[in-house]
Amino acid sequence: MTLFDSPSFEGHQGVHAFYDAASGLKCIIAIHSTVRGPAAGGCRMWNYATAEDALEDALKLSRAMSYKNAMADLELGGGKSVIIGDARTAKTPALFEAFGRAVEDVGGRYWTAEDVGVSPADLAHARKHTRYVAGLDGHPAASGDPSPIPAEGVFRGVRLCVERALKRDLDGVRVAIQGVGHVGAHLAEKLHAAGAKLILTDVNAEALRRVAAATDAEIVAPSAIFDVDADVFAPCALGGAISLDTLPRLRARVIAGGANNQLADPAAGVELFRRGILYAPDYVINGGGIINVAGEIRALERDEAFDPEWVDAKLDRLALTLEEVLEQALREHRPTHEVANEIARSRISGVAEKRAAA
Ligand code: NAD
Repeated sequence: MTLFDSPSFEGHQGVHAFYDAASGLKCIIAIHSTVRGPAAGGCRMWNYATAEDALEDALKLSRAMSYKNAMADLELGGGKSVIIGDARTAKTPALFEAFGRAVEDVGGRYWTAEDVGVSPADLAHARKHTRYVAGLDGHPAASGDPSPIPAEGVFRGVRLCVERALKRDLDGVRVAIQGVGHVGAHLAEKLHAAGAKLILTDVNAEALRRVAAATDAEIVAPSAIFDVDADVFAPCALGGAISLDTLPRLRARVIAGGANNQLADPAAGVELFRRGILYAPDYVINGGGIINVAGEIRALERDEAFDPEWVDAKLDRLALTLEEVLEQALREHRPTHEVANEIARSRISGVAEKRAAA
């Protein structure tokens, strides 16, 4: 199979590979779509076994950003970059400066930001060579700590799903949260404040104890989180939590959390639907992260300060989009993830058609 026939390629506008001998940078910038605006998506640094693995990841992540940005109603397309290397040992200022030159090379068609393995300090080196960098510290346009915003979006999404599926508010609702890192910990605080009863797990025992103490929560072992008696399951750790193996163990009637790629495969989404479990599609409910980044890009482009009210209005709009997905799925008796994909694709092609007609 060639690159162009691979399922992950799916209409990518551009895939750029960069090598810098002096710093050792090997990176791929994948641009899935610039139909809605310049492509935006973070940079991931990962010790990929092969360049093919890195390419595959870049393609999947970049297409997912097109869908996420469209669902968050942003004037941004989808793109992603990956740097091949171990983030614990291979980072140097020169590597990120070379990355900045690579971003500059694609001529403003791609805005980068943080993702796994990349920090604001790394991006500051990239910024020396390109202005297409969001997620920086210490300037008026900076969006600051990004994790409270996705957590707020997820909180609003959980509340909506509970209202729809359980016909009640959050007071007394039992929520199991898998992973209490940046997003999970903020989500736990918000749910606790709204009266929810929490059951938490994390592989980091220290973080788990701290968040549980602050939110009066019950603690369970990571492997036990799928078996607890909860109304809502909120995956906030890594991807793939919902699989045909874990699904039969869940007692929750709602799945709504911050993690990316929650479904191990599309069959898990179909099975959720068959079992009558309401699933909030991950890239819709967790769009707060990219909304935050978009707020920073907007401020940088206008040479203005970051505007939290603009971000809040986008979060409100995101909740309406989630409602639209749930409504349509109910009306058409279809899985929510399929409906979300369809709406995302139509939001992208709709803009393209409007432009062609103008
Ligand atoms: P994080 O690394 O701060 O937190 C993840 C937590 O999950 C960690 O505490 C980790 O110890 C824990 N964990 C890992 N494996 C686990 C397991 N098997 N069982 C239980 N706990 C486990 O990451 P984060 O920034 O909070 O992001 C969490 C998820 O949300 C990720 O999937 C991320 O891609 C997604 N997301 C994050 C943002 C953001 O702005 N931070 C935005 C959108 C989506």
